[in-house]
Amino acid sequence: MEYDHIRAVDPDVADALEAEVERERDTLEMIASENFVSEAVLEAQGSTLTNKYAEGYPGERYYGGCEHIDTVESLAIERAKELWGAEHVNVQPHSGSQANMGVYLAVLEPGDKILSLDLTHGGHLSHGHKVNFAGKLYEVEQYKVDPETGYLDYDEIYEHAVEFEPDIIVSGYSAYPRQVEWERIQEAADAADAYHLADIAHITGLVAAGEHPSPVGVADFVTGSTHKTIRSGRGGIIMCDEEYADAVDSAVIPGMQGGPLMHNIAGKAVGFKEALDPEFEEYAAQTVENAKVLAETFQNHGFGLVSGGTDTHLVLVDLRESHEDVTGKDAEEALEDVGIVLNANTVPGETRSPFVASGIRAGTPALTTRGFDADDIERVGDLIARTINHIDDDDVKAEVAEEVQALCDENPLYE
Ligand SMILES: *Cc1c(COP(=O)(O)O)cnc(C)c1O
Repeated sequence: MEYDHIRAVDPDVADALEAEVERERDTLEMIASENFVSEAVLEAQGSTLTNKYAEGYPGERYYGGCEHIDTVESLAIERAKELWGAEHVNVQPHSGSQANMGVYLAVLEPGDKILSLDLTHGGHLSHGHKVNFAGKLYEVEQYKVDPETGYLDYDEIYEHAVEFEPDIIVSGYSAYPRQVEWERIQEAADAADAYHLADIAHITGLVAAGEHPSPVGVADFVTGSTHKTIRSGRGGIIMCDEEYADAVDSAVIPGMQGGPLMHNIAGKAVGFKEALDPEFEEYAAQTVENAKVLAETFQNHGFGLVSGGTDTHLVLVDLRESHEDVTGKDAEEALEDVGIVLNANTVPGETRSPFVASGIRAGTPALTTRGFDADDIERVGDLIARTINHIDDDDVKAEVAEEVQALCDENPLYE
């Protein structure tokens, strides 16, 4: 990757950018929300579209000179409709959190009620955590997963909804390894006469490829991030039926944003085109298969998993079951030492602070993009287990680091 123009102006930033490419090449990226976009998406995001103001929507802009911008945004919208089958799509939210904000602004008034999953059980800040705008503006109650099984407890959600009478129920999660039964959440929303927002930030790509059931056509609103499993560069998206189109569009602009990030929308258009290729279905299927193999490998090493396995792209290890004294943070740091990058994560029934946590979350989207197959992933699972089992042994960690480098070299990235 060449940064000649940057280097001429700003060697400090050029050094950091080059070092980041090296870091991405020479580590195993297992943060479940991350992925590697194609060089085509990178080019789109680095294009001159960053220069253009385009407040408004295709065909109705507040600025002149938008003919090419309109082409790009219209393509992004059409491709998203094809990928997810939504009636209406807004591709302007700057990220997944902004997409959620757009939906809240479209249908809620300050003081209205949100029912969503607790952050420590796999929810997201933008679902109404008290430090987030949603927690400050709205009245929020939260549901939890079943502490015994790690699965969503749909009966509890139903009862909670009937009792709390929320204006909106939020489903879709950051650290839930199982399939979500959207219809069951919709039943709770119907019973409470509430809207239903399904936030598929993590699983956009799995849903598009048919590897996870789709909430489109079930929930009133579907939101997502575009840089996670769908691999289309940093950004957000809102989908809904035609009846909510105007409310959503005017919530995004003028409600909460100014000019759209057109270079990122170009990235979305290109990434969505890539995702419409049949090869993307193979990618999504391999991502899920790899997560299953990772889960089995962990279990073979005696590790406990939240919900006992996975149906998605991620595995949540509950370290308390095998390593009482190893915190999520300890594991995260030891793994980073050997070149495996993932994050500490809270687990249901968490007893430690969220910064320390008792679990780790490991995802397969990025490694699968790099070409890792089931055998490679089994090796990765073995290396993770070995590191955690020998967390204070520098000799073992040096050996693991060598094997990590070998795996990276076998699966090149951004050549
Ligand atoms: C990642 C995520 C988001 C959005 O995050 P951004 O960083 O704002 O794109 C929203 N909801 C869930 C459930 C997520 O996991």
